[in-house]
Amino acid sequence: MAKSKKQSKQSFDTRTIHVGGEPDPVTGAIMPPIFQTSTFVQKAPGVHQGYEYTRSHNPTRTRLEECLASLENAKFATVTASGLSAAMLVMHHLPKGSKILVGDDVYGGTYRMFTTIFHERHNFKFIDTTDLKKTEAEIKKFKPAMVWLESPTNPLLKLSDIAGISKAAKKANALVLVDNTFMSPYFQNPLDLGADMVLHSMTKYINGHSDVVGGVLMYNDKKMNQDFFRLQNSIGPAQSPFDSWLVLRGLKTLAVRMRAHEQGAIKIAKWLENHKQVERVVYPGLASHPQHKLAKKQMSGFGGMITFFIKGGVKESKKFLQGLELFALAESLGGVESLVEHPAIMTHASVPKKVRESIGLSDNLIRLSVGLEDVNDLIADLENGFNKK
Ligand SMILES: *Cc1c(COP(=O)(O)O)cnc(C)c1O
Repeated sequence: MAKSKKQSKQSFDTRTIHVGGEPDPVTGAIMPPIFQTSTFVQKAPGVHQGYEYTRSHNPTRTRLEECLASLENAKFATVTASGLSAAMLVMHHLPKGSKILVGDDVYGGTYRMFTTIFHERHNFKFIDTTDLKKTEAEIKKFKPAMVWLESPTNPLLKLSDIAGISKAAKKANALVLVDNTFMSPYFQNPLDLGADMVLHSMTKYINGHSDVVGGVLMYNDKKMNQDFFRLQNSIGPAQSPFDSWLVLRGLKTLAVRMRAHEQGAIKIAKWLENHKQVERVVYPGLASHPQHKLAKKQMSGFGGMITFFIKGGVKESKKFLQGLELFALAESLGGVESLVEHPAIMTHASVPKKVRESIGLSDNLIRLSVGLEDVNDLIADLENGFNKK
């Protein structure tokens, strides 16, 4: 539940390494200790050194929260056991019966949580938030307590105008939350664009090594911080000290990783765009992306995720996937290793087929998470996929 100490002018790269990374004051250890403990001894009843029980807080997690808050230009960060448990805390933070306006192309797990768990507590309305005019009108009409955006979305990489929507929401007294998982704090900072809260699945780029599940909320409001502390303590989705430490370790290379992910992705996106077995490529960095201009305006880069439509259908997709060796067939994204997935069969199987089709999530859609392998090896691997008999 840490408050970021260093809102310094130091660059992003420097802050990934130094905020929350002060040497251990007791031993001088340059790397933060893993406080692998459930409880903390009190000097006298109620007299402690700021920590009581690891469900509520833990010094290793505090360091991670300090660093993350700084990277997202937030005052506070709350680290949780998964991205979805961060979303769960937000659902409990909002008063019962809240109206929530949600982008219609959100992560499948978020969609499942809203429509099968929290639909009993809140009133959700799903709309195409890529259309600013329509979203502004809907905010006026529906009067939501919160607008929940994902930008870019998963897997269609659609963008929503964060500044425009935040402005309209502010007028209507609605909070704006942006799931910023795909860009990481390196390429996009929604709070600077007027959003009230940012959510990340740390499982993805923030940790970056596919060995931890975690989530985080970042925001500036002190009352919100007190409430998230209450909720973390009362509901209990706390991340373990060891996992927090692993994320702290992964975070140190976030800037270099993001630059390299993007470099590889741009090259692969352009190569795919010229491939005869590809119907269409979706990547915010391509001039052909319908929102390329908005991407350049609100993001400082385009990330490492590419979606493309292979010519054909499920049969051709499966053949392609089975011809790959380097790109591992797996859900998730944002790790050092390249991954490939087929949303209609895998991550978005929980979204009904009719809904999938209505938002353009067709059966020939393939999603790539471009890792940090040599890009020529990755391209050769994709070519093997296309040539698979
Ligand atoms: C993975 C993901 C989540 C959920 O995070 P978990 O850590 O898997 O619980 C939420 N939003 C997006 C965009 C994701 O990619």
